[in-house]
Amino acid sequence: MATIRLEVVSPDRQVCDREIGMLIVRSTGGELGILPRHAPLVTGLVPHVMRIKKGPGSGEEEVMAIGGGFMEVTPEKITVLASAAEEPQEIDVARAQAAYQRAKQRIEAYKTAPKDSASIDIDRAQLALARAMARLSATKNPIA
Ligand code: ATP
Repeated sequence: MATIRLEVVSPDRQVCDREIGMLIVRSTGGELGILPRHAPLVTGLVPHVMRIKKGPGSGEEEVMAIGGGFMEVTPEKITVLASAAEEPQEIDVARAQAAYQRAKQRIEAYKTAPKDSASIDIDRAQLALARAMARLSATKNPIA
């Protein structure tokens, strides 16, 4: 049975290190599916919900919220270096909802009050929104 090793590391810990069947990630260049014996690759990752298929052709899937980062692929191993990575059961939903609301308000303020918008880092707010959305989506919580 063909598998590939997945190691996910965030700044404070190793989040996982195990054999999997397939990984589906959102890279800076779009969605990528990584199977065993994939060609070598290095890419950036945007905030998203990473999908981990347990075995080859297996419908069984786990998810992980990724805050962004980098991925290196060799034929035997996938290494994800994430700015933050959480399995669904580790996610504090109330915290993610508060982060979502804060980011939304900043983006709204930027759009509606251009004269004050110099004090708002719009790129930072959009990334914070994307991280919060990934966390809420990984826990299947409604985004609102
Ligand atoms: P916040 O504004 O709530 O801190 P953030 O998106 O700015 O959210 P990050 O910088 O991505 O947070 O992450 C900082 C640390 O906090 C990481 O270790 C990350 O795993 C953790 N973290 C952030 N939000 C949550 C959450 N909702 N549940 C669990 N851990 C979280």
